[in-house]
Amino acid sequence: MPGDTGGAVLSDEQLRPGKLDEFIGHEELRANLKVYLQAARERGQALDHVLFHGNPGLGKTTLAQIMASELGVNMVSTSGPVLERSGDLAAILTNLARNDILFVDEIHRMPIAVEEVLYPALEDFKLDLVIGQGPGARTVKIDLDPFTLVGATTRIGLLSSPLRDRFGVIQRLEFYSPGELARIVKRTARILGVSITEEGALEIGRRSRGTPRIANRLLRRVRDFSAVGGSAGIGETEAADALARMDVDESGLDQMDRKLLSVLIEYYGGGPAGLKTLAVACSEDVRTIEDIYEPYLIQSGFLKRTPRGRVATAKAYRHMNRLG
Ligand code: ADP
Repeated sequence: MPGDTGGAVLSDEQLRPGKLDEFIGHEELRANLKVYLQAARERGQALDHVLFHGNPGLGKTTLAQIMASELGVNMVSTSGPVLERSGDLAAILTNLARNDILFVDEIHRMPIAVEEVLYPALEDFKLDLVIGQGPGARTVKIDLDPFTLVGATTRIGLLSSPLRDRFGVIQRLEFYSPGELARIVKRTARILGVSITEEGALEIGRRSRGTPRIANRLLRRVRDFSAVGGSAGIGETEAADALARMDVDESGLDQMDRKLLSVLIEYYGGGPAGLKTLAVACSEDVRTIEDIYEPYLIQSGFLKRTPRGRVATAKAYRHMNRLG
């Protein structure tokens, strides 16, 4: 049977769509990328530098890989915090072949000294390297092959404007609709060799916080519960029961989301409360709250960000069964 994995564990990597046509949702972004890719292919030139921004798990890395495979070039991956010194970046850039893609995840965390080495490379495909120190130091210019930088960030606001301005294409990835996530769940189920009904897929899609990576993770766990429970496949009931056992509620909120809302409501009268205060009260890292939890709570109307701090909405009070 095609897609039957014989029970093997498949990694995120193997679930990644390999072509633009297999990438689900984001129709406009896909249509635009198709044009840019075709134009670059016809000119035989490197694609303009591209920046993807949006929450973790929305498909930034997947899109970069798809672009490389559609262009028939290699993709070299690294990330902002790994590039500690300008020499690290120089070594990668000088090893790129013509029109290759350099993917830099968390590009907002790249040190400024490394960023400065990147500018001439992005503009003129040249590297200005300083060799040695003090009065004996000299600058060496190295010509690079044309390449495309694909940057990914969860925090576009932290990117310096000179770096941002050097991207020809800047695309935001939004949360996915439950219907789109259900399509992603069905595709993954096919690859995993799991049988799932339309309603089962939609139930998982509704509770995946708009995020494909979470949808795939929940599907794997729901599959475990349904296999151990002796079900032949996953229907709406199997999905709902398994998700309830994992403490994912009908709005897709997990324990931490609910803790955040209940701390805000119970300790701080619904807010406003500062992010740091909330993080301490929830024993969670500020960045994790800001990058992982808050965007979905804000997007789905449970939380508001105001100049004086975070505020719980009427919807949050209803969800938590509290009177506002
Ligand atoms: P990011 O780089 O934004 O953190 P990834 O590209 O690693 O996210 O995507 C996470 C997982 O979600 C991937 O393994 C991929 O299988 C899946 N995924 C993301 N976007 C889509 C999509 N549009 N269609 C199908 N699967 C997707």
